[in-house]
Amino acid sequence: MDKQLLEDLTQLFGPSGHEEDVAKYLRKRYEEMSLEVQRDPFGNIYGIKHSKKKNTRRVLLLSHMDEVGFVVTGFLENGCVKVSPLGGFNVETILASRAILKKQNGDFLYGTASALSPHLFQGKENEKTSIENMSFDFGFLSKEEAKKEITIGDPILLEGKFSFLNHGKRILSKALDDRMGLAMGIEAVRNVQKELPYELYLGGSMQEEVGLRGAHSAGEFVHPDLAIVVDCSPATDQEEGSLGKGVLLRVFDRSMIARKELIAFQKKCLEEVQVPYQYYIGKGGTDAGDLHRVREGIPTLTYCLCARAIHTPSSVLDVSDFENAVRGLTHILESLEEKDLANFRYEN
Ligand SMILES: [Zn+2]
Repeated sequence: MDKQLLEDLTQLFGPSGHEEDVAKYLRKRYEEMSLEVQRDPFGNIYGIKHSKKKNTRRVLLLSHMDEVGFVVTGFLENGCVKVSPLGGFNVETILASRAILKKQNGDFLYGTASALSPHLFQGKENEKTSIENMSFDFGFLSKEEAKKEITIGDPILLEGKFSFLNHGKRILSKALDDRMGLAMGIEAVRNVQKELPYELYLGGSMQEEVGLRGAHSAGEFVHPDLAIVVDCSPATDQEEGSLGKGVLLRVFDRSMIARKELIAFQKKCLEEVQVPYQYYIGKGGTDAGDLHRVREGIPTLTYCLCARAIHTPSSVLDVSDFENAVRGLTHILESLEEKDLANFRYEN
């Protein structure tokens, strides 16, 4: 596993709509891999591994660049700011988290999400915390002072540094959803040894967390014969969705019903290289939810791992899951033939 790659990616600043730092970083990595870099007008980025075959089919391997965060919506007299969320939060996990705000000029401000001291909490146990009644403190002494440095709409994220746990068996970090996917895509494509009979678009999408907004443009721009979405799903620690139990065969979620031929192909490939897998029912959606409906339809497969406490600054991922998943994904990329791509499109 390329530890530096995953650490770098998780620590980049990139709430939905503010993915520039991630795109810049991916551009460098893609160029080092001799991929041709393109961006579509929406902002999604691609590294293209060209095939020696001319006029061949296309495969899109997509993960989202954005992470959950906030935007500044207003100021309080005491110098704190009010926010709206970008993406879904369990509100209690926000309280007292360290926060970073990116200013208009690109500089960062450090601060924290508000929280009540226990002394003041008594009698308020039953009051529901909501993002509307929270504020963020960047240390300003007054509203006027805050307004000089902060602009409405500035993005904020919660800090969550990257650490290995238990002698390197697990990783704790913010934004494993979905920088883990971007790292996995890069590692799998680096490991591909075979000449591929298709054009491979390795990509990062924008604005997944606010409703799969970049995926649609990715589908239109690349118009692939097959899309593979690599994403990070919430671990349930139940029979389906456990850490260390392998790649998720995500058969159903709120945005897509998986095609059984694609699941069968995924399963066969994983078995061929002894990569563990587990069935999974998603409670949310992934970029696949939009991609598979673009134009006349795009055969779309999800290739996900689960992590604990995603959408918090302290998500936990299993390292063997990641390493196995990279191996499995490399094998899938090397196994795909033109006839599979035609079959998935019901051409035969
Ligand atoms: Zn995600």
